[in-house]
Amino acid sequence: MRIDVLGVGFDNLTLEEAAQAGAGFVEGDGFHYAVTPNPEFILAARKDPAFRQVLLDADLVLPDGIGVIYSAKLLGRPLKGRAPGIEFAQQLIAWMAKNGKRLFLLGAKPGVAELAAANLKTQYPGLIVCGTHDGYFQEDEPVVEAIRAAAADVVFVCLGAPKQEFWMAKNGPASGAHLMVGLGGSLDVFAGVVDRAPEGFQKLGLEWLYRLMKEPKRFGRMAKLPLVLVYALGSRIGGK
Ligand code: UDP
Repeated sequence: MRIDVLGVGFDNLTLEEAAQAGAGFVEGDGFHYAVTPNPEFILAARKDPAFRQVLLDADLVLPDGIGVIYSAKLLGRPLKGRAPGIEFAQQLIAWMAKNGKRLFLLGAKPGVAELAAANLKTQYPGLIVCGTHDGYFQEDEPVVEAIRAAAADVVFVCLGAPKQEFWMAKNGPASGAHLMVGLGGSLDVFAGVVDRAPEGFQKLGLEWLYRLMKEPKRFGRMAKLPLVLVYALGSRIGGK
C-alpha cells in the first residue's frame, strides 16, 4: 500500500528495497517506470491532474526530497526514509554492471550523456552503456527507435519534471525497455558538470540548501517549497 502525501502516493521502501524492486522489473516482462518526486513535484501535481495521474500510474514512486519525508511525518504517515533518485540510480547501476544489463542515458545538453557514460563505466567496471541521446530533440520517434535498436534494458530519462514523466509514460511501452527512471539533473552530476552536495549536507537533509547556494536563481522555485509543509500541517489539522 502506498503512503499518500498531499495527493501523491509513495512506496514505503528503503533505498535497498527500492533497488531490489527496480531489479525485479528489469528481470520481469513488460514495461515499467519509476518516478522520484520531491516537494516541487507535489506542488505541481496539485495544479496539474494529468501530472498527478502520471505519478500515480508509475510502478515505483520514491521520495526524493527531505521535504517529502517531513510532510509525511507531519501527516502522521511516516515513510521509512529518503530514496534520492541519484542514489537509487547508483544502486541499480551497480546491480546492472554485475548482471550484464544494458543502460541507455537520455537527456541533458549535447555531450553530457556521453561524459556521464564514460564516468559511470570507469566507476562501475563491466557496466554496459548501450546508447546515449541528448534531451533537446523535437521528435520522439527517432529517440524511441534508438532505444529499441540499442536493446536497452533500462533508460535513465533526464529531461526535468514533468516532461520526463510524461515522456516515459507515453514512449516507454514502444521502446522495448523494461524500466525507465525519471532522474532530473542526474546526468549533469554523473558527468561532473554539476557537483552533488558534500556528504555533510546530504546527511543533514540540506542538499537543497547547497544547490541554492550554488545556483541562487533557483530561489524563486525553492521559495515555494515550505508550502508543502504548510499544506501537510493544514491537512493534519483538518483531519484528512
Ligand atoms: N533537460 C533536457 N531537455 C529539456 C529540458 C531539460 O534534457 O527539454 C535537462 C537539463 O539539461 C537538465 C535536466 O533536464 O540536465 C533537468 O535538470 P533540473 O536540475 O532542472 O531537474 P531536477 O533535478 O530539478 O528535476
